[in-house]
Amino acid sequence: MNIILLGPPGAGKGTQARHLVEKRGMVQLSTGDMLRDARTSGTEMGKIVADVMDRGELVTDEIVIGLIREKLETTSANGFIFDGFPRTLGQADALGELLAEEGQELGAAIAMEVDDEALVERITARSTCASCGEVYNDKTKPIPADGKCSNCGSTEFKRRADDNEESLKTRLMEYYKKTSPLIGYYYAKGKLSTVDGLADIAKVQASIAKIVDEA
Ligand code: ADP
Ligand code: ADP
Ligand code: ZN
Repeated sequence: MNIILLGPPGAGKGTQARHLVEKRGMVQLSTGDMLRDARTSGTEMGKIVADVMDRGELVTDEIVIGLIREKLETTSANGFIFDGFPRTLGQADALGELLAEEGQELGAAIAMEVDDEALVERITARSTCASCGEVYNDKTKPIPADGKCSNCGSTEFKRRADDNEESLKTRLMEYYKKTSPLIGYYYAKGKLSTVDGLADIAKVQASIAKIVDEA
């Protein structure tokens, strides 16, 4: 079963993807994580995308499709979770072709619905464990009082350079202009499901579990 988690920045895609990995052994393919890895390892591609990402704009289709192609060709999995990909209609068409080449199908595109005000609050309060990537939130999911990651025990946490209000404005505009048409795209393909992303994390997990079980 392959699924797409579709939603604006801060909708909870990463949080839910990690849960599916843990519970179902699916493989998370986050283009955002792949691009950040490319930046920290100092590759040519990482250097090219750094400024674009910090501004909150989308990197080119060519780059992200290349990253996904490589993963699909080299990874076998009990289902992929596409987290933050596709983000444009061109990427969506390319994903359809890549899956067909691999003899795979898309089970569902799950749109996580949240309102814009909640997104600003969530993003400006987000941090992650520097070691395992567990996602925290100053308000809704604080780092444990002993300062240790509940998942791996690390005491180092980080905040993303693009998690500020200025960059978020651009990211939201990019989402509405280029990514939100994918909701209609997957509806027309009969693949769209929606969940209330404003519900608490456990409720969203339950809604997604139901969709994955039924897809
Ligand atoms: P968020 O978790 O806030 O939705 P991501 O971690 O998915 O953000 O992405 C961070 C940044 O990486 C984006 O603002 C964009 O610059 C770039 N990026 C990630 N995925 C894609 C994609 N599929 N297409 C183009 N750019 C992407
Ligand atoms: P995305 O990958 O879509 O950008 P994240 O999973 O990183 O989103 O979540 C963004 C922020 O919102 C994080 O700080 C996370 O802890 C918090 N968060 C995620 N889901 C929920 C939820 N259902 N309710 C409240 N806060 C949430
Ligand atoms: Zn951790």
